[in-house]
Amino acid sequence: MYIDLMEVYNKLYSEYNIPEGWWPGDNEFEIMIGALLTQNTNWNNVEKSLDNIKKRNLMNPESLYYLPINELEELIRPSGFYTVKAKYIKNLLEWFKTYNFSFEVINKKEKEILRNELLNIKGIGKETADSILLYAFNKLSFVIDAYTKRMFSRLGLNIKVDYDTYKNFFENNLPKDIMLYKNYHGLIVEHSKNICKKKPLCENCKLKFLCKTYKTNFN
Ligand code: SF4
Repeated sequence: MYIDLMEVYNKLYSEYNIPEGWWPGDNEFEIMIGALLTQNTNWNNVEKSLDNIKKRNLMNPESLYYLPINELEELIRPSGFYTVKAKYIKNLLEWFKTYNFSFEVINKKEKEILRNELLNIKGIGKETADSILLYAFNKLSFVIDAYTKRMFSRLGLNIKVDYDTYKNFFENNLPKDIMLYKNYHGLIVEHSKNICKKKPLCENCKLKFLCKTYKTNFN
């Protein structure tokens, strides 16, 4: 079934009052750390960890790089799996050090090179890599998560559920616009949490007249 991605975007954009760029964070580094901490937990828990780091004035790459791992574990404890995540953060920082902890240097690199390097870091999967690329490095890399797959398969997107097929579908059918990519993923998350939930609230959904599931169940 054909899905007009921009039609879906415009309907969601008019429905949700999201901040431009959507992902919360004071700077790119905080976004990068948040993208890793959000694995397997909710954002409230991530925020507690980020606040712990900020309260100690450690929210910068060098400070976290040189911080003993047991101290880092304590700071990020609210995010769960904190011993594993502390190791992952250290792995990410070890890689970032090869770029002199510089976003300016990173920004000059091509997306695919950075993506491959990120995916080679233990603890960074595709969703985390793409979140870092898009929201922290401002690279055109669409983020796919479980919400995206659930919502778009309900809408009627008949493609294989593997990550890269989904990602390519979005990237091949959307204008190459960073802010659009950022907002679109955010809108999918908002809509999936509020309306297209595990048990969807189809009658309240702005997308219902575009949706295969709605047409099948309610017509
Ligand atoms: S109509 Fe229902 S299934 Fe379709 S997108 Fe909306 S909430 Fe999800």
